[in-house]
Amino acid sequence: MSSNPRVVEALEQFAAGLNAGRLAHAYLVVGPVRSEGTTFAVGAAQRLFCEARERRPCGACRACRRVESGVHPDALWLEPSKKSRIIPVEDIRKFQEFVFRTSYEGGWKVGVLVGADRLGAEAGNAFLKTLEEPPPQVLLLLLTEQPQGVLPTIVSRCQRFVLATEETDLPEPWRSALLDWLAMPVVEGDVAGMSRAGALLKILKGLRAKAAEEIKEESQEEELDDETEEARVEARYREWRLTALRVLCLWHRDLLACRMGADESLWRWPDRAETIRRKAAGLTWAAAMEHIAIIEEMQRLLDRNLPEETVFPFCVGRLRV
Ligand SMILES: [Zn+2]
Repeated sequence: MSSNPRVVEALEQFAAGLNAGRLAHAYLVVGPVRSEGTTFAVGAAQRLFCEARERRPCGACRACRRVESGVHPDALWLEPSKKSRIIPVEDIRKFQEFVFRTSYEGGWKVGVLVGADRLGAEAGNAFLKTLEEPPPQVLLLLLTEQPQGVLPTIVSRCQRFVLATEETDLPEPWRSALLDWLAMPVVEGDVAGMSRAGALLKILKGLRAKAAEEIKEESQEEELDDETEEARVEARYREWRLTALRVLCLWHRDLLACRMGADESLWRWPDRAETIRRKAAGLTWAAAMEHIAIIEEMQRLLDRNLPEETVFPFCVGRLRV
């Protein structure tokens, strides 16, 4: 059993989901794949296969030991090839056969993808079919250290366990630019609102360019086709955009916390206390709540693929601090 509290907690959640009959058929497991990710996958598979009557997984029965040593006939581990570091489409076909055949032991089957960000476009599309209509009693675990590198169509069909201790952060200089943008005094009026939205869009454009640059560099050794490369750029950018919106949301939570007199130690940015106090001073409790709702709305609209050029002015214009 792992001693990492994140893994322990994730396995408890997993067991609770199983007991309640509410297990999703696919999970994106975010964290170091060789350590936390693998520990979680082994623990989850043992929980499904363990032959003990109680306190499952026992870690000692035949099934638990077979999972541990990677030889359980109803558990399939798929890894990128050593040379190309890519999971080839032929392997995904093997995976599909495994998923759709009857299990040896008559129960669950577990498929583990070690490095879900290592799928090319063809393999990714083949895998998508498995994700769309998996048979019952099949659990798919997609391990990744880089969720921003996983195809968005795959991400949207998985639930998540996050085992990494670090939250994803934005690369510099955009991280600081975003905080400076938040600290700017707000001038009322439509024109000022448009210009604030424009400044935010500019930061995001910079992030998109950075994503393209990073992926290009990474994919040189992999010789990716254009479609895969483009999908990865989009995926990484969306992950960053999500992080940026989370920053906005946390910032406004700090304003709310400040307005309610919460201790600075509970804030996300106690180092920016002066700015936060200044902004929170002109804010009613209801307005602070409304600002958080506006940012959540912004996320929903972007999730529905509405253009940023429309969503930002519409939402940013209503933020009054
Ligand atoms: Zn056992």
